[in-house]
Amino acid sequence: MTESEVLEIFRETGALLEGHFLLRSGLHSSRYFQCAQVLQWPQHAERLCRALAERCAAGAQAVISPAMGGLFVGHEVARARRVRHIFVEKNPTGALELRRNFSIGRGERFLVVEDVVTRGGRVLETMQIVRAHGGEVVGVGALVDRSGGTVDFQVPFGYLLRLQVETFDAEQCPLCRKGVPLVKPGS
Ligand SMILES: [Zn+2]
Repeated sequence: MTESEVLEIFRETGALLEGHFLLRSGLHSSRYFQCAQVLQWPQHAERLCRALAERCAAGAQAVISPAMGGLFVGHEVARARRVRHIFVEKNPTGALELRRNFSIGRGERFLVVEDVVTRGGRVLETMQIVRAHGGEVVGVGALVDRSGGTVDFQVPFGYLLRLQVETFDAEQCPLCRKGVPLVKPGS
């Protein structure tokens, strides 16, 4: 899959919006990305994740994802690789943990798969959980790398799209200056 094919699907499904957006951080942006909009279509999820699976490190025996965002992507990557998929989820303190009797074997080789990587915190937390259980992390995968290439997981990182989302302080926003109406997405 080429980058323009991936972008086309993201735009078509409303996952990637272009305009003038108020982000949760309070910053303004000309682009807004919501991965769930594309993943609501299983046929797109399957196709994108098959392409992602080809870009991830070889040799994994299982896939693990941080819930909720990583669930569908991890599941589809695991389908493409014909391996199992498990997930970690938030406990009441907000930390990720392995629940539901999921197990990680000693020396078992995992891919950590997420929908979107921004700072990479949830991926790193998942990697630590795999290692704490005696497993090995052979690679990381994400549909979208929004870090601008700044994250370093110390293992091969496969992604479909690297997305630069430029943000502005309200006072310095060129879109505000042009009078483009500001939209708060997801509300
Ligand atoms: Zn603005």
